[in-house]
Amino acid sequence: MKPPAASSPGAAAPLGGHARIVKAAAAARMRPNLADYAATYRDFGWDKARALLDGLPNGAGLNIAHEAVDRHAAGPRADRTALRWIGRGRERDFTWRDLRAESNRVADALQSLGLRPGARVFVMAGRIPELYLAVLGALKARCVVCPLFSAFGPEPIAMRLEIGEAEVLVTTEALYRRKVEALRPRLPQLRHVVLIGEGGAATAVPGTRDWTAMMAAAGTDFVIPPTDPEDLALLHFTSGTTGRPKGAVHVHEAVVMHAMTGRYALDLHPDDVFWCTADPGWVTGTSYGIIAPLANGVTNLVVEAEFDAQSWYDVLERERVSVWYTAPTAIRMMMKLGTAALAGRDLSALRFMASVGEPLNPEAVLWGVEAFGMPFHDNWWQTETGGIMIANYAAMDVKPGSMGRPLPGVTAAILKRDEDGGVSEVTAPMQEGELALKAGWPSMMRGYLNEEARYRKCFVGNWYMTGDLAMRDEDGYFWFVGRADDVIKSSGHLIGPFEVESALMEHPAVAEAGVIGKPDPMAGEIVKAFVALKPGHEANEAMRRELLGHARKRLGSAVAPKEIDFRANLPKTRSGKIMRRLLKARELGLPEGDISTLESDER
Ligand code: ATP
Ligand code: MG
Repeated sequence: MKPPAASSPGAAAPLGGHARIVKAAAAARMRPNLADYAATYRDFGWDKARALLDGLPNGAGLNIAHEAVDRHAAGPRADRTALRWIGRGRERDFTWRDLRAESNRVADALQSLGLRPGARVFVMAGRIPELYLAVLGALKARCVVCPLFSAFGPEPIAMRLEIGEAEVLVTTEALYRRKVEALRPRLPQLRHVVLIGEGGAATAVPGTRDWTAMMAAAGTDFVIPPTDPEDLALLHFTSGTTGRPKGAVHVHEAVVMHAMTGRYALDLHPDDVFWCTADPGWVTGTSYGIIAPLANGVTNLVVEAEFDAQSWYDVLERERVSVWYTAPTAIRMMMKLGTAALAGRDLSALRFMASVGEPLNPEAVLWGVEAFGMPFHDNWWQTETGGIMIANYAAMDVKPGSMGRPLPGVTAAILKRDEDGGVSEVTAPMQEGELALKAGWPSMMRGYLNEEARYRKCFVGNWYMTGDLAMRDEDGYFWFVGRADDVIKSSGHLIGPFEVESALMEHPAVAEAGVIGKPDPMAGEIVKAFVALKPGHEANEAMRRELLGHARKRLGSAVAPKEIDFRANLPKTRSGKIMRRLLKARELGLPEGDISTLESDER
């Protein structure tokens, strides 16, 4: 394999390269599900993926909750652990049989409220068992589930309930009191609020119902009504990294993708203990934190506590996690602490690690090898795609910095927009263009809620335009360049922020980097970097000069940052993505735009 060429003239080959390929043999300790990528890709058909699933009895269609729960509850896995919850000081295990009974109660209770199919049921809670039961039960009742991130403030919550025309909100008493109660008069369509008490205690708040009482009154037998695969199932708001969040709508057919990608991209095997660290308030936490593992008959671990490296390592060790799906922001925080925190731990059960949400810097992939004996496997997708589209598979050599190759059934291409509004494919290797996907995979969004025009704008002919820029190398690996909105144009060069950030991350003092284009009368834009340092390093003039020099050496002077500012932290969305548009707006003194998903940040 040839090392990929530089992405822009003047850059020293920044990403990947011969010496840095991680051979697959080190990554796979079990017979991988996708052993022969080329043959599987060639021979694939969606009918084959569909055949991995059951369908509702008597040909009554396809329902996500049936595939995730009832199907296994009726089979040999009925009494195995489906969901293992580790709360703060408490634990609870649910077998598939338990999950069936409990989600049936939810479905029965929702039906007794007189909800029509398609009614929107919003769920907002931390990672507690009731949330998972509510999601599965609502899907059984053919309601549309919309998870809301529990750390949102009152305004973003009310806005989403309003746009999403929520009829039911399932939340905790504490969250309701703090964030919803005062805004309730604004939400006339919200007919029912169901409150979960602290530790399962009963609640008695005016204008609401008590979860515990509703569950006690509901039956454990429920027959999922006929469900068309095209019936709406999930509504997910995007992260709002680039602007106002969009409500992407998904249908029950999406479970075909969840099951298939769980099997191929995450390499789930029946005896796995799978841990997805994403919050169910975001699409990853639903597609892979609930549906994909359960549909594959794999034990799904749910950990209530927020990120803390030591306690995460405790979970990996104690629970014998075998497949772990996490995000670059968490990996970078672990890197900040170094490998010492892992010394003496028995992580022998762990055999596959994957990452999503943001570009994964090559340094982070390789740190996986150093710290865990295997690389983090990057994969790429979006709220809109509903499931993983491009991935590094267990049986594949990893080129650190690459997102991997498209899933079987997924056609990905690099396109350039023409003057006349059409597109043409860029076939030469390592040329930048917009990453596009041929429409037609099962978990593709069916629309943006109430935003037909915004949805239409995503398509050119049969291509779904992702809004991300990427390149493809001669081996068919895709390389992320940056979001179209974030790309920097400097003296005729197109510079992807990811390339510059990754080079900065190679410096031992750097914990995080975010790069923007700053308007400049000579160059059009210059590259400006914001850097957070690891503990023990001082943000001073000497460090600034050192990092500028390091970047120039790595990237060449055309691409390296001209300016570096230090920050204690970089602004991130609550789903953990660096908000470059906000760094830029603040730098230029412009309005901050929609920051409803911003996590509080220290400047
Ligand atoms: P919004 O669309 O509201 O601006 P968002 O795009 O961040 O927010 P998500 O759907 O949560 O919302 O994120 C998808 C985006 O995240 C992708 O389009 C891409 O820019 C980025 N992303 C996700 N995974 C990866 C990855 N493995 N490598 C590079 N970028 C990634
Ligand atoms: Mg997006």
